Formats: sequence, C-alpha cells, structure tokens
Amino acid sequence: MIVIDLSFSLTNETEVYPGDPKIKIKKFTVKNENPVNLTEITLGSHSGTHVDAPNHFIEKGKTVDEIHISKFFGEAIILETEKYLIDNKISKKIIDENSSVINGAKGLIFKTGWSRKWGQKCFYQDFPQLDEETAEKIVKTGVNFVGIDSPSIGSPEVHRTLLSGEVVIFEALNLSNLTKRRIMFAAFPLPISGADGSPVRAVALVNNLEKLKIFC
Ligand SMILES: [Zn+2]
Repeated sequence: MIVIDLSFSLTNETEVYPGDPKIKIKKFTVKNENPVNLTEITLGSHSGTHVDAPNHFIEKGKTVDEIHISKFFGEAIILETEKYLIDNKISKKIIDENSSVINGAKGLIFKTGWSRKWGQKCFYQDFPQLDEETAEKIVKTGVNFVGIDSPSIGSPEVHRTLLSGEVVIFEALNLSNLTKRRIMFAAFPLPISGADGSPVRAVALVNNLEKLKIFC
C-alpha cells in the first residue's frame, strides 16, 4: 500500500483566504526546570487543506466533533474537470457522464489542476468551483464527501446544498501527485468542540485497493 499526502504544509507565510485569521506558529516557553519544545499555534478553522462541516453555513448545523468519523473516510473517485469547466464553473455533465464510475463511491474529488497555484495570492482568485446544479446532482448520488483542489467548493448556495444534504466538503486538497482514478481517501478533523471546520491531514491510500475495500 502506498500513502500519498494530499495536504499542503502550513507555515507563518502561508497565504490564507482573504479576511481569514493569519497562521501563527511560534515557540512557547514552558516555565519549569525540564526543558521541552512546545509550539503555540493560531489557525483559522479553514486554514490550508481543511474540511467544512454543516455549521459553516447552516445555523445549528453539525460541527466537526458531531459528525461520525466514518464520514471522513472511504473509496473516492477522482474526476478531472478540464472538459467540464464553463466560466470556471464545473458543469453537472461531470456527474451525468461519469455516473457508472461514481455509483457506490463514498466520495468525489474534483481535480482542476489548481494545486499548482498554492502559496500564491492568485490561488484565491478566479478559482474553479462547482456549479449550483452540480451540487444538487452530487447530493442525489448519496456520497458522504466531496473534495476539490481549489480554495472553495463554490458559492454559499453550493455550500448550503451540499452541507444540508449531509455531504462534507474538503477544500484546498493537494492533488498534484495524484494520478489514480479511484483511491481510498481519509482526512480527519481534530474533534474541536463547536468548530465549523478544521484543518485536516488528507491522504490517498492506493494499491491493494481490493483488500482495503473490506473496511468501508
Ligand atoms: Zn472552507
């Protein structure tokens, strides 16, 4: 089995979504006689590669700690978006034309090629995202999660459609090293009480896929 990292590193220099809290990582001094290294970390809940819980857009929606952990793991289909993009929006055709592959999958990951812009301000400008009708179609497939390599899955309406349909959203995935069409995906948030999202360490588990299937 090979584990492929689908997360971006977080540093003090990492660009964040306009208006979000800056990332601060600094050494914390412990005042006792046993010297240890400790780090004080300040992060927005949507820093870097992260998950959106329903509470991000829905008042009284579930927070990350309230979602069953099995929702963050499962067989996922990677969908290349290039031929489905109209004005940076991924059209619903991507679901229609791939329905036989999607059938039974736990998640859909949209690969737009945007990972290459990570670390630059332009990562957050004019990025590819889902069309509202595409979000509606996704909910009907019955998947548990969607993911994308751009900073946001789409408009507030796209978020609300997916999140109210019990589909959790992974954003800013690093898909630059992913060439497979079908993977086992796992990305777990910290169980932070009341948080509407959380940074995640997302991974793809490939090879021996048949063996892994018995766990989901
Ligand atoms: Zn987000």
